[in-house]
Amino acid sequence: MKRIDLHIHTTASDGTATPEEVVREAEKLGLAAVAITDHDTAAGYPRAAAEGEKRGLEVVPGIEISTKFRAAVHILGYYIDVDSPALEEVLEWMHRDREERNIKLCEMLRSVGVDIDIERMHARFGDLVGRPHFAEILIENGRAADMQDAFDRLLNKNRPFFIPRQFLPIERSIEIIREAGGTAVLAHPFQYRLDDAQLRELIEHCMESGLEGIECRYSGYDADMCAYLESLAAEYGLVRTGGSDFHGSHKKDIRLGEGRGELNVPYAFLEELRERRAKT
Ligand code: AMP
Ligand code: ZN
Ligand code: FE
Ligand code: FE
Repeated sequence: MKRIDLHIHTTASDGTATPEEVVREAEKLGLAAVAITDHDTAAGYPRAAAEGEKRGLEVVPGIEISTKFRAAVHILGYYIDVDSPALEEVLEWMHRDREERNIKLCEMLRSVGVDIDIERMHARFGDLVGRPHFAEILIENGRAADMQDAFDRLLNKNRPFFIPRQFLPIERSIEIIREAGGTAVLAHPFQYRLDDAQLRELIEHCMESGLEGIECRYSGYDADMCAYLESLAAEYGLVRTGGSDFHGSHKKDIRLGEGRGELNVPYAFLEELRERRAKT
């Protein structure tokens, strides 16, 4: 059976593998398709697509938008037009807000003796700088033992180096994906610690804005969890997607296409997604 991975981060956001490296690794693993879903940017897609073309590997344009519905929720967008001016405008707003947060975080770190500034962060990590990059700096400076420790003790909410940033309303994130010609999918539904009633409420709320899918298979989700999500997708008439949330060495235990060994996303999921797009 042909397998795919529809949830992948690259150096265009906070992954550590370049778009080209992701495609080469996917080819080595024998994956039939990958989607590039960087946080709040699609800048990695053209590079991945070019490499995919060279190697005959299917690359789907995607994005993962950070939004808020009571708490943080992530919305995936597939087959977006990466040059959509409407999408670009929203992403620019998000980038400006992120930049303000990052500048404040640099100042805060300097005030406790960490030698860092925003220019060097960009020189080293690229256009989109995220907390995993700051975690790397903290580890290098001996302030944290590893990525998990950096987040748990320093960078997460209610910790000393947490600086909030703004989030796009969930309705707007779904609308903008649709305006850019994409299909909006609820990412990793178990991440939000919702009970069945709350998850249904979230799904129904998102569907009012045009949600079309649920990420049913994901690193760490066992067969029962996947079956539950797939039953919800069927009940609501939504498509199923799945992916690893690969971040390279920023999430050391997660492998491309395989997650922690349990992940199995069939090519049929991508075909179902395209069939749905063809109908609407
Ligand atoms: P930011 O968008 O810059 O606020 O950073 C949030 C990102 O950090 C998330 O999207 C994850 O990719 C990453 N992240 C959050 N918690 C952890 C963690 N415990 N370990 C590694 N990465 C994390
Ligand atoms: Zn990330
Ligand atoms: Fe996410
Ligand atoms: Fe992700």
